[in-house]
Amino acid sequence: MKITAVDTFVLRHALDEPFGFSQWWYDARTAMLVRITADDGTTGWGEAYGPPEPSAAIVAHVLAPLVLGADPCDTLPLWERMYARTRDNGRGGMVLHALSAVDIALWDLKGQALGVSVSRLLGGRFRERVQAYATGLYFRPRDDFAAALADEARGYAAEGFRAIKLKVGLTPEADLRHVRAVREAVGPDIALMVDANHAYDAATAIRLGRAFEGLDVRWFEEPVIPEDLEAYAEVAHALDLPVAGGEAEFTRFGFRRLLAARAVDIVQPDLTATGGFTECQRIAVLAGAWGVRYLPHVWGSAVGLAASLQFVAALPPATAALRPLEPLFELDRTPNRFRDELVAEPLRPVDGWLAIPDRPGLGIAIDEAMLARYRADASVASNGRSRARSAR
Ligand code: CA
Repeated sequence: MKITAVDTFVLRHALDEPFGFSQWWYDARTAMLVRITADDGTTGWGEAYGPPEPSAAIVAHVLAPLVLGADPCDTLPLWERMYARTRDNGRGGMVLHALSAVDIALWDLKGQALGVSVSRLLGGRFRERVQAYATGLYFRPRDDFAAALADEARGYAAEGFRAIKLKVGLTPEADLRHVRAVREAVGPDIALMVDANHAYDAATAIRLGRAFEGLDVRWFEEPVIPEDLEAYAEVAHALDLPVAGGEAEFTRFGFRRLLAARAVDIVQPDLTATGGFTECQRIAVLAGAWGVRYLPHVWGSAVGLAASLQFVAALPPATAALRPLEPLFELDRTPNRFRDELVAEPLRPVDGWLAIPDRPGLGIAIDEAMLARYRADASVASNGRSRARSAR
């Protein structure tokens, strides 16, 4: 087989209401998808994390010329070729977002060509379904925000979620008020996690983390900035509750530093950001060797979601026991049409569990009409909004 085309798709839809976290407010959802086509007409889809236009440009101008004409089943040699060619200008950030999308599309294509799911290509399936946790409870403009959070959390519990993550990183006082409100709303049996998106310094994170421990918070995600591994390690060492991080880290080289610094108890690589299936398999091996849990960061369209499900099917349990520690799967509950409407059979939880498709490749079928409707890299999207008006 030979790769004959690499196409990029920038998607955008405006949100009815903005939502925020400790760094900024979202007023639109975006996605950057890659479609790779082989000479026999087989296609594979991938997704890049982050701002869509830069990664689309990197795929089109830098990565596509490196893979066109190659055998799409050569996922490892092609990963190494793309990484080596961008090493001096990349090693992280949007270059790795773009590289991840191409890698995911190659694995999907390989699965389609061989007639097996990516999870089987990765070595086989440990599980047919995975317990999801609800990622929601973002900042929203509300008069009584604590009460709104409590309502939202009760909704997730009623849907069947047994684990919920809320955003912190506003102020320590507000964070505690919000965590308390959610804990009281859902009771003691729902696992509660918090995510500061690196809003704090080490001293504040430690003080706040101790208060979170009193509210039975199960992990403290991104307490401090990802650049400061010493601060991470200080927080992880000082607190009993697990510290999680890694969604802003790239490749096995970045995770090697994170693990060697004993900076986290849980790593959260994002398949669409840190290097795709090829690199995440290597990161999982590293994490296992360091005795650190691997719980994927997931924030994207149905493509990224389906890819992450395939990956987690093939992820070994974190402990060796009759009843080992199984992975928990991040499921974003904020509005995103590209998660809910882009595929023929949306990946929806049932009682807080997600079934993992065992169909060829990523196991999804893209709705091309939906793609056309929300495409933002055409001059005018057919939803009637001009590119400028629908842009964030
Ligand atoms: Ca996060």
